[in-house]
Amino acid sequence: ISSKKELYAPIVLENEDFYTRRLYLRIQDCFGRPISSAPDSWFDLVERYSTDCNKTLIRTSKTRRCLNLGSYNYLGFASSDEYCTPRAIESLKRYSPSTCSNRVDAGTTNLHTEVEELVASFVGKPSAVVFGMGYATNSAIIPVLIGKGGLIISDSLNHSSIVNGARGSGATIRVFRHNTPLHLEEVLREAIAEGLPRTHRPWKKIIVIVEGIYSMEGELCQLPEIVAVCKKYKAYIYLDEAHSIGAVGKSGRGVCELLGVDPADIDVMMGTFTKSFGSCGGYIAGSKELIQYLKYTCPAHLYATSMSPPAVQQVISAIKVILGEDGSNRGAQKLVRVRENSNFFRSELKKMGFEVLGDNDSPVMPIMLYNPAKIPAFSRGCLEEDVAVVTVAFPATPLLLARARICISASHTREDLIRGLEVISQIGDLIGIKYLPMEPEKQ
Ligand code: PMP
Repeated sequence: ISSKKELYAPIVLENEDFYTRRLYLRIQDCFGRPISSAPDSWFDLVERYSTDCNKTLIRTSKTRRCLNLGSYNYLGFASSDEYCTPRAIESLKRYSPSTCSNRVDAGTTNLHTEVEELVASFVGKPSAVVFGMGYATNSAIIPVLIGKGGLIISDSLNHSSIVNGARGSGATIRVFRHNTPLHLEEVLREAIAEGLPRTHRPWKKIIVIVEGIYSMEGELCQLPEIVAVCKKYKAYIYLDEAHSIGAVGKSGRGVCELLGVDPADIDVMMGTFTKSFGSCGGYIAGSKELIQYLKYTCPAHLYATSMSPPAVQQVISAIKVILGEDGSNRGAQKLVRVRENSNFFRSELKKMGFEVLGDNDSPVMPIMLYNPAKIPAFSRGCLEEDVAVVTVAFPATPLLLARARICISASHTREDLIRGLEVISQIGDLIGIKYLPMEPEKQ
């Protein structure tokens, strides 16, 4: 790209529906890893442009090898791994891709029971149950936990799967200001006071739902403060660790470990296997009674086909590597690497003058673009330089809070990160998104 004009040219042609246009990333084989043996953080990207007018593809073009700054592969387990991959292949041969049955009929293999024990002990809860999809874990479990007469108090930026589960539950829903424990307390106090003239227990139960790391903000949950408020008002707490489990904490045990919260203080721990573990599916961990209740009553456990065995094996293997049970210290190295990579990338972006959201240690780092017209300019500009980024806009964010969301992985090398920074800086200059003064170098 040699000039601003060139960069903007295609946008002028296509700007009618610029923010509904999506660039789809497709990783090329069934386990979500590149076909070739090139470095993990590079992949083949198929460019497809769609239009919302007639919902058909208007252009399908070439495949490019790109630096992947957009996937949730935080620990690099979605890339070929010397411990995980042979075991996943072996389980594929032994069990096939699907059990073709639900958990209570013929869909429970020894892998399913093993992964549940492993996940429970990893997150520090007595018991766990796994599901075939992370999204469905939230949307199917929340309605089993609470219903009419109950109250859900949800962070205003909670993920769509939580919103869906909450709506489907029939419970009353109140929202508190994103990651603001003081406002949560206000909402709780008001809700409890509502029923007081009649009864001291106006709600059958109250569940507060938060995320460990917010996926559009890259922000860590204010968990210790939120736990304190929940305790004070005797509300249950439900924590979605999709983006934090495996990704943060000294031994990868998520925000509880990072922020010094005792897992015993979290009533329902939810997480997905699609990020740090490089697999598919989700889990709920909690007390033995809770998990047994879910196993007896949750339709997604009783009637949905169980998690795919190779995906289960991938989770088992990834956790074993994290715990060092593969006989190496690769897991510990990955955890250090994702943290160092994230903190390096974030601080370099800030030094360049980008407005970056989120906290240190978080591998998710949104770069604010604000103006939706800058979305295609940014993503296409990066793509021209073989760097794949994900941009996020309305309706996933408010219309004028468009952003590019960078996800950092342990599998990125320092050269990958420097290359990514150079390209982002160059495009940032061209389209004018360095909104902050450049940070001076620390001596
Ligand atoms: N919870 C959160 C916070 C998420 O960000 C996501 C998806 N990124 C999910 C749940 C759904 O998980 P999955 O993609 O594994 O279905």
